[in-house]
Amino acid sequence: MDLKSLIRDIPDFPKPGILFRDITTLLRDPEGLRYTIDFFAQQCIEKELIPDYIVGMESRGFIFGSPLAYKLGSGFIPARKKGKLPGAVHSIEYELEYGTDSLEVHQDALHPGSRVLIVDDLIATGGTAGATAKLVQKIGCDLVGFGFIIELRDLQGRKHLPDVPIISLIEY
Ligand code: IMP
Repeated sequence: MDLKSLIRDIPDFPKPGILFRDITTLLRDPEGLRYTIDFFAQQCIEKELIPDYIVGMESRGFIFGSPLAYKLGSGFIPARKKGKLPGAVHSIEYELEYGTDSLEVHQDALHPGSRVLIVDDLIATGGTAGATAKLVQKIGCDLVGFGFIIELRDLQGRKHLPDVPIISLIEY
């Protein structure tokens, strides 16, 4: 299936000069959604990336990470923006173009040695995925890989990730 044809390009969002890759058009397509999750799971199985937990980043990482965890027989752990999780958290702060942001996971969600696959909808500069990797590695987890629906190759986000397998279903 031509997944690229289901991604909508929106120029100048969220600001002038940015071409936003909108995955809501893929999500609303019943066959496209099913194919995406099935293909994602198949890639993980082929690469033997079957984790104990998928960590998905707020918020589009939740949409793809949860059904993928279901298919792989893994648990799903949300990495949320600061102040959203009710329990005690591990946090990581990371640089944005202007300022900083934080991601948090519950302290009792992950343990040293847990096998983790990090999942998000898209990797651009790699800042978000790289910070999530630092967070799970700081806890002592075994980071087995990354999975993205879309990779923007020109931005070379992979450079900011540790040397583990990376799955991306669509590249621009
Ligand atoms: P990075 O940290 O620069 O790699 O940016 C990746 C994060 O920004 C992910 O959580 C994406 O959801 C979001 N993002 C950046 N650009 C786009 C886009 O064009 N479409 C959808 N999400 C994007």
